Amino acid sequence: MPEPALTRDVVVIGGGPAGLMAGIAAAQRGRSVAVFEREPESCIRFLLSGAGDAPVSNTGLDVSRFGGRHARFVSDAIAQLPLPALRDWFADHGLKLRNAEHYGHVVAPGGGTAVRDTLLGALEDAGAELYAGVTITRAEAVAGGFALVIDGEPVSANALVLATGPSPTGHALAHGLGHDVAPATPAHAALATDEPWLASVAGLWMDVRATLHAGNRALATREGSLLFQDGAVSGEVVFNLSGLAAGMRDLELELDFYPEQSQEDVAEWLYRALGGGTREFAPAALDRMLPQRLAEAFLRILGVKANARAMHLELKDRQGLLKLMTALRLSITGARDPETRFGGASVRQVDPRTFASRVTPGLYLAGEILDVQPDWGGFGAHFALASGQMAGRHA
Ligand SMILES: Cc1cc2nc3c(=O)[nH]c(=O)nc-3n(C[C@H](O)[C@H](O)[C@H](O)COP(=O)(O)OP(=O)(O)OC[C@H]3O[C@@H](n4cnc5c(N)ncnc54)[C@H](O)[C@@H]3O)c2cc1C
Repeated sequence: MPEPALTRDVVVIGGGPAGLMAGIAAAQRGRSVAVFEREPESCIRFLLSGAGDAPVSNTGLDVSRFGGRHARFVSDAIAQLPLPALRDWFADHGLKLRNAEHYGHVVAPGGGTAVRDTLLGALEDAGAELYAGVTITRAEAVAGGFALVIDGEPVSANALVLATGPSPTGHALAHGLGHDVAPATPAHAALATDEPWLASVAGLWMDVRATLHAGNRALATREGSLLFQDGAVSGEVVFNLSGLAAGMRDLELELDFYPEQSQEDVAEWLYRALGGGTREFAPAALDRMLPQRLAEAFLRILGVKANARAMHLELKDRQGLLKLMTALRLSITGARDPETRFGGASVRQVDPRTFASRVTPGLYLAGEILDVQPDWGGFGAHFALASGQMAGRHA
């Protein structure tokens, strides 16, 4: 074996939020650290995540926002770096995070670029080196550490942190070092539907309770905002359910437009709005309960003419409206335009207190290379930073 061109205590593969945080934490402990990033710039994926205002975290940060079976796994990382501690960390490095107006997003003035620059500044201050534009495809566990080949040159490290996000080369590296890797499936996606009437309400936002069903089984229920599109639904609530759609058949999305009220209350309200004696046209009578376009679409679905008087609606139409307003079913044909992918290295083979591999000594895995399933809206970024910090503290 030729002499290594570079020897470091810790080599980090991946210069996203997880990798940079791991590099910072390890270098702050006096370790010699080199971070290798495939792209000419680091944190590219993170920068894409918010059109300039990438969320770093979320005011609703809680383990329950990480897909069921992963909640326990992320709990140590979140406990070690909860939101107030993350705010303090960035404030100590000169960046004051703020709460965005919507979705509980926690963002930085200056957007994702400011976050990235702060991480890069902290990495440099800690004395770690960053090599950009370098893809690592080979890493081998050897006695006392790891042997890597970078641009044809041998590199050695005592400890190795894999923080490649959901990249296929990262998954191959993890697999080569003994880890089970679940195939990546689309997540944070719109859900496509061939209901033709959706075109008439495209662009409309609603707050809903949504339940995704596969055949007779309810997969999960979430509340939040939903956007109607031509041929699809998207928005926070759909993104958070879409990861469950992969590989499922007979999918239906059930929507309740009154998540905070019981069906009885909505029924009473509806019957009052339609009134016994009102001569208003039905869409106008529904105006207090639904946006006009949605009311018109529902009446069309029921075969009620737009010029029907509210007082003339038959009982079956009133019952039909109640059903559409509280349990509308959309048949789902698949996921569309995914923003990310779920899958990756199995969390069962990683110690959640250190992010050390349980399979290969000296190996650490952090961020979205792991098969965790964060909700949309800054939860993944927070986990990447928290797990990166823990990996760097132990590597
Ligand atoms: C459009 C979009 C929307 C998103 N929306 C949200 C959101 O709302 N909320 C949220 O929390 N998250 C969101 N994300 C995901 C968010 O970007 C991640 O949470 C975060 O970036 C994860 O950080 P990471 O460091 O684990 O992985 P990444 O950011 O993916 O970083 C990994 C880095 O490793 C590099 N790399 C990969 N393979 C190699 C290799 N072999 N050698 C060298 N370098 C390599 C990559 O170039 C990359 O820079 C979104 C992402 C996108 C693209």
